[in-house]
Amino acid sequence: MRVAFLGLGIMGQSMATNLVNAGHVVTVWNRTPGKLVEGAAVAPTPAAAAQDAEVVWLCVSDTDAVDDVIFGKDGVEQSLVPGTIIADSSTISPAATVKFADRVRAKGVAWVDAPVTGSKIGAREGTLVFIVGGDEASVERLKPLFAAMGKKIFRMGETGKGQATKLAMNLQIAMIFEGFAEALTLATKLGVDAQQLLALIEATMVRSGVVEYKAPFILQRDFTPNFPLRLMHKDIRLTLEAAKEARVKLPGLETLEEIYEMATEDGNQDLDYAATLTLLEKWAGVQVKGKAA
Ligand code: NAP
Repeated sequence: MRVAFLGLGIMGQSMATNLVNAGHVVTVWNRTPGKLVEGAAVAPTPAAAAQDAEVVWLCVSDTDAVDDVIFGKDGVEQSLVPGTIIADSSTISPAATVKFADRVRAKGVAWVDAPVTGSKIGAREGTLVFIVGGDEASVERLKPLFAAMGKKIFRMGETGKGQATKLAMNLQIAMIFEGFAEALTLATKLGVDAQQLLALIEATMVRSGVVEYKAPFILQRDFTPNFPLRLMHKDIRLTLEAAKEARVKLPGLETLEEIYEMATEDGNQDLDYAATLTLLEKWAGVQVKGKAA
């Protein structure tokens, strides 16, 4: 298929590469010039990238970025023709997604929200899980592209439901990681070996994909971003906003938002969100260590 891919960050770079490797004809655009994908053409603007594309795929930071890329100056909107599909793998507001979709529907364009889970490694290895909202026919048309970038898709309902579900997923990822980080900090302070605690976690119902993914990085004290703290913070805020609109109280997440606020004040926003551990360590006066650290 002819695909415009917009946003070559941690996730987008690998996703676009996997589309090229699967034989799709890809044109990329990134706000900051210089990011390239081997085998893909480069366009100077989102509008130019979207020219002649059957599908416009986005993976940018947040709701404002999606708004800019689609509806801003030199935005995709100028190039839209009936039958085009916009697929958005950014994690953004479900309510804004519905508004954006309404606006492009007037031009005969379908909007499929397709946020992902699987992080940097999942993007690189083409094993992302897509959490999708959109009409069935459009989702069906996108299947070869989903298959090139991921291992599974879950269609959660109409447009907006992918983003709503993604927020519910990241709520759990953030809180599971916080539980893990607090447990590691307490155990270390009480003189328990982190590696032994991990072996125990893996052998019991406490094990989780979040712990499995993050533990090797933590034990090596590697906080380079797989999922930057600033983006998890953005997702926590989006979730609290959506909860407020729906009159749902999330007291655990409200507390966690304060921790992210403090981690940001400490200058950790561009590190991985696992760096929230360093705040707990600072308060406790300990450092979690693996054998290699
Ligand atoms: P990233 O590495 O920070 O990349 C962000 C991308 O968005 C860059 O290409 C950036 O362009 C672009 N961008 C930001 N603001 C823009 C604007 N106003 N107009 C146009 N482009 C703009 O982030 P990422 O980790 O790839 O994440 C991308 C999206 O996927 C986010 O919504 C994130 O929440 C979601 N996500 C990430 C992960 C993960 O583990 N990393 C997992 C699941 C979902 P520049 O190069 O010019 O800055």
